[in-house]
Amino acid sequence: MEGVSREIRLVARPKGFPGEELFEVAEAPIPDPADGQILIRNAYFSVDPYMRGRMNDVRSYVAPFTLGEAMTGGAVGRVASSRNEKLAEGDWVLHQLGWREWALSDGSGVRKIDPSLAPVSTALGILGMPGFTAYYGLFHIGEPEPGDTVFVSGAAGAVGSAAAQMAKIAGCRVIGSAGSPEKIEWIRKLGCDGAFDYHDVPVGSALRELAPDGIDVYFDNVGGDHLEAAIGAMRNHGRIVACGSISRYNDVEPSPGPRNMFMVVTKRLRMQGYIISDHFEHFPAFIEKATEWVGDGRLAYRETVIEGIENAPKAFVGLLRGENLGKMLVQVGPAD
Ligand code: NDP
Repeated sequence: MEGVSREIRLVARPKGFPGEELFEVAEAPIPDPADGQILIRNAYFSVDPYMRGRMNDVRSYVAPFTLGEAMTGGAVGRVASSRNEKLAEGDWVLHQLGWREWALSDGSGVRKIDPSLAPVSTALGILGMPGFTAYYGLFHIGEPEPGDTVFVSGAAGAVGSAAAQMAKIAGCRVIGSAGSPEKIEWIRKLGCDGAFDYHDVPVGSALRELAPDGIDVYFDNVGGDHLEAAIGAMRNHGRIVACGSISRYNDVEPSPGPRNMFMVVTKRLRMQGYIISDHFEHFPAFIEKATEWVGDGRLAYRETVIEGIENAPKAFVGLLRGENLGKMLVQVGPAD
């Protein structure tokens, strides 16, 4: 096809908090699909906290970004032309070739999405990886019982806002923390029984006030002081869902662990980490329930959409700074 596709490349690795100068906008010709391939016009791509880890040149559960190459990640787009018998021109698809306007794929790792169910952007948020992360972590690791008190940190983010509402659906009392007055107002509307801005009050004091009898499940998106305070507030036999540790992702030195880890023993706590890509066998059950909950209004969502691929670095850095309410997305093409 005639024309150029813009893409974002990582050009240097960060030390500490990343800046926008680590990325560049580059142009590449829009490719033509060969036999078996599809050409996708991306509408949205996702910026996610795990991408901060991929900027480092270290071995982890997902490969680091390669310097000088287009970055990758979750994206939704429409098939512009197809030479693959499983996908037709006009199909909406979810795939992993984000951070670019046009993507060429052989169809592997590509999933068709139904645009009549919900806006296609939700395949990257509430009906996609973040919603699934909340669902799996809460129900399979947190195992909430009706009447339990659940504390969710990062509760105004993509995963956290879903986890908090799912805990309400499970009949729990929910406490949420987040980083601005606007976020606190929103998570109260979502049904949080208690909410606090962690900039205003130490997490431990907030939990003593809002959950005087302790917490049964802690859904941890933040780590650090939140985790230590939550361990201190856990009731006996509580469960800690170790989902993420965003307060630590920009550390240049290994961070000290919670000082009260021995309470894991004395309170008989269970703390379990997970990586959501290990659990795709539960995706069909998730999507069935989440579609129903979104449809009947029990699972609300917000998206912060940054327009234009040239603003993707700003979106990513903004995500780490907390500039998103709900899911942070970059729109790079038409969504209708
Ligand atoms: P979010 O939508 O929650 O965005 C990140 C949020 O983190 C920001 O909005 C900001 O909100 C908060 N934040 C940033 N720095 C700090 C800090 N120092 N202390 C407290 N909060 C901070 O992102 P996601 O929902 O996509 O991800 C949430 C967590 O879940 C992350 O830790 C991520 O790594 C993890 N995750 C784990 C997966 C897994 O498989 N285990 C899969 C997907 C995500 P605020 O204004 O409130 O500070």
